[in-house]
Amino acid sequence: MIPITEYAGRDVAVFGLGRSGLSAARALKAGGARVHAWDDNEETRAKAEAAGVALSDINKRDWQTFAALVLSPGISYKFPQPHRLVRLAEMTGVPVIGDMELFARAVQALPERARPKVVGITGTNGKSTTTALIGHILKQAGRDARIGGNIGTGVLDLAALHSNSVYVLELSSYQLDLVKSLHCDVAVFLNLSPDHLDRHGGMDGYQAAKMRIFQNQTSKDTAVVGFDDLYSQSVAIGLSARGPQKVVQISSTYTLGRGISSVDGHLYDNQSGKAERLGKITDCPALIGRHNFQNAAAAYAACRALNLDPATIMAGIQTFPGLPHRMETAGEIGGVRFVNDSKATNAQAAEQALRAFSNIYWIAGGVAKSDGIAPLAPLYPNITKAYLIGQSEDVFAATLSGKVPVQRCGTLERAVEAAARDAKAAGQPDAVVLFSPACASFDQFRDFEHRGDVFRSLVQAMASAGVRATA
Ligand code: ADP
Repeated sequence: MIPITEYAGRDVAVFGLGRSGLSAARALKAGGARVHAWDDNEETRAKAEAAGVALSDINKRDWQTFAALVLSPGISYKFPQPHRLVRLAEMTGVPVIGDMELFARAVQALPERARPKVVGITGTNGKSTTTALIGHILKQAGRDARIGGNIGTGVLDLAALHSNSVYVLELSSYQLDLVKSLHCDVAVFLNLSPDHLDRHGGMDGYQAAKMRIFQNQTSKDTAVVGFDDLYSQSVAIGLSARGPQKVVQISSTYTLGRGISSVDGHLYDNQSGKAERLGKITDCPALIGRHNFQNAAAAYAACRALNLDPATIMAGIQTFPGLPHRMETAGEIGGVRFVNDSKATNAQAAEQALRAFSNIYWIAGGVAKSDGIAPLAPLYPNITKAYLIGQSEDVFAATLSGKVPVQRCGTLERAVEAAARDAKAAGQPDAVVLFSPACASFDQFRDFEHRGDVFRSLVQAMASAGVRATA
């Protein structure tokens, strides 16, 4: 844990007791603050108490006594409208911050030579994969890497600050909205496409939140910026022209004049203006698809900025085990591969998966994003048949009608069964049953992890039934 001593002896409100709220409450308490932890949800409060965090109803307290309100990134800060308690904080002059800001200030409070390195990773898609990949490469190289933030462990639950350590932090736009002091030695901005616009008041607000990853960077720091979408290109060009930091562009689409590219399944380092071929990434089992080449290029650039040598980085990329629910091979039955990409909660993410294979039995659906799946039309030729589930069934069936054979399945169970049967009957060697839903999960599942776990169990059950049948 990273104890936060900044508020020792003072009262601090912590609102929203999910993973980051709980870790903030513990870290503040360990640092000597009087913590007033609260959540609107009774079940969450009960869980917090069970986890040893004492509750204090901040609705009933005198807000003049609070030195800060530590807000969970899940709670509405500015849009669609500020939460009632955020308004109350503003009216009473209580600063509103996030757990990442507490971390950032704790780092800044140390003398420069005692500060750890900080690598921040943001973007619409690929944050978790890139964060885990950078962490893996660093650990393989013997560095003391601590991985967390929006992935896995809340930042304040990571091991205490140490000058030789590297904090590899996934940063969501909500978290970035709540930081002012974060200084990233290496800031990675992967890509940008419309998402979470309700929470940011539109695309400008969303982009502005993501750009906060670069605030406080100096000429000693590095910005790694994707060059594969127009928004990110404008960020890369703007920073290269005006930013104090070194800018490294990365692309999985273009051969960059200067930067890191991964265009034909190989990674190239062209930072010096002379292209150096580093190695093949098409055979990394956990990095399937061009989107993952972008993640690999970003991870390479970030690790180079931390002075790792190219061979060590490439060795780390090759041995990356991957993350569950992202293009994860859930099983192989009778020559058919089953891929769990449950994390694809929007069309942009599913697009990457649909691009990676050419004979796809595609299971999709759930709670659709506003742009649905129409933008995926150029990839329809890769889809042999679609199996639809969940709330979006009618809309998706209408979009695909006449273009892709469709079966309405309602549930994931029925979809897996139907897709497996069809793929097996077709008997083609490249058949893939791909679960990349392009939707949020909460109409039928707790979250994308639950959804992916159910898919994996269905595949495993089918595999063992097959084994039993042939035994
Ligand atoms: P995030 O943490 O940003 O949500 P993940 O690494 O968890 O990203 O990947 C989420 C989904 O996005 C996966 O389904 C994957 O197929 C897709 N994806 C991963 N990396 C990228 C990328 N660089 N560009 C576009 N899509 C990506």
